[in-house]
Amino acid sequence: MADIQKALVVGGGIGGLTAAIALRGIGVDVDLVEKNPRWDVYGVGIIQPPNALRALDALGLAEACVAAGHPILGGRNHLADGTVVANDDYPPVDPRFPPMNGLTRPALHEILKSRLRDEGVAVRLGEVVSQLTQRTDGVTVAFSDGTTEDYDLVIGADGLYSQTRTMLFGDELRPRYTGQTAWRYNAPRIDGLDRIHIYIGGEGGTAGLVPLSDSLMYVLYITKWPQDRLKIPAEELPALMRSRLEIFGGEIADVREQITDPEGVVFRPVDNILVPRPWYRGRVLLIGDAAHGTSPHAGQGAAQAVEDALVLTQELEGGGGIDAVLERFMDRRFERCKAVVELSASIGAWEQNPDPSIDPNDIRHELIALCAQPV
Ligand SMILES: Cc1cc2nc3c(=O)[nH]c(=O)nc-3n(C[C@H](O)[C@H](O)[C@H](O)COP(=O)(O)OP(=O)(O)OC[C@H]3O[C@@H](n4cnc5c(N)ncnc54)[C@H](O)[C@@H]3O)c2cc1C
Repeated sequence: MADIQKALVVGGGIGGLTAAIALRGIGVDVDLVEKNPRWDVYGVGIIQPPNALRALDALGLAEACVAAGHPILGGRNHLADGTVVANDDYPPVDPRFPPMNGLTRPALHEILKSRLRDEGVAVRLGEVVSQLTQRTDGVTVAFSDGTTEDYDLVIGADGLYSQTRTMLFGDELRPRYTGQTAWRYNAPRIDGLDRIHIYIGGEGGTAGLVPLSDSLMYVLYITKWPQDRLKIPAEELPALMRSRLEIFGGEIADVREQITDPEGVVFRPVDNILVPRPWYRGRVLLIGDAAHGTSPHAGQGAAQAVEDALVLTQELEGGGGIDAVLERFMDRRFERCKAVVELSASIGAWEQNPDPSIDPNDIRHELIALCAQPV
């Protein structure tokens, strides 16, 4: 085991929470600093593909996720009018779990936070890191409340717009707008929905339904969108989302009129980033979206963040100096995350300029198969 006794995790999202839990699991003292004083997450859902369940299982978290969620047995693709064109069965990777799991983000957040509390991680809420001073044997961290603390390792898990990334690598490394926006809305689950239903609307965008629990699903819509129209008043969002979904028939037409609550529409630009390797400087490492924020086309962003957390602790357990540990981490993570970011982006590019000679579902399958490989 590498000589890491005390670590700071910056950011209490999926990557930061699982990193803190994983580090506690190998006996490291962990503090976590989270900027958002409410430490809440928005209400829509998350798809957990097999590799997410496998990594969560290694941390003892998969069973709770599956219990709180809804099985996803495969995918069903439709033309915009609702005609079914393909039905995929995702093979179960572990007989204890469904092939994929859908659950709400707040449910996942509660599972992770509750385990964090059990592990005795000290949480600094409503604070940020104001300065990182690297020493050969550690990092001195100054916090926004004016206090300082020494750590052996700092993990920047502060998301796509990471401040830790800027502190390490400067302002040039920023997420890029991919040209699409994502729209999500929770609705009562339609009877029998146990797959991800995708509706391909060509240049009009792609819509989908994802089961999240026995009673809940979310409606997903992803579309080409001008960069100068990213600020939309909340009260306009439901009508705008409904009108964009008018090109779709089938189940999407059935649920469309339920989109009425301005607070319920989660509208986001789809940005991505791949930080060139290495994702660390000295004893400060980026994980999750801070290092490899992906577009959501294969539901892999959070899955990769959890894998980062797991691989980091496995490599710490493997021993050696911190440089060797972090290089081994990069060897196992970089190409895999690069493939996720790039293949997901290629699905988004296809959606913006559909090429009939390419089936984006093939790219999605390639990515699912790649991520099912051991990490
Ligand atoms: C439309 C859409 C759909 C998606 N669907 C899926 C899916 O189905 N499956 C999947 O696996 N992934 C999905 N993702 C991706 C997934 O949400 C992210 O990859 C995942 O949340 C990344 O986790 P993270 O911990 O790195 O970052 P985040 O979840 O963004 O967490 C970062 C945390 O850091 C905190 N923070 C920010 N700045 C600071 C600071 N300076 N100091 C301290 N704290 C800070 C934030 O408040 C937050 O709590 C989707 C993404 C989008 C946009």
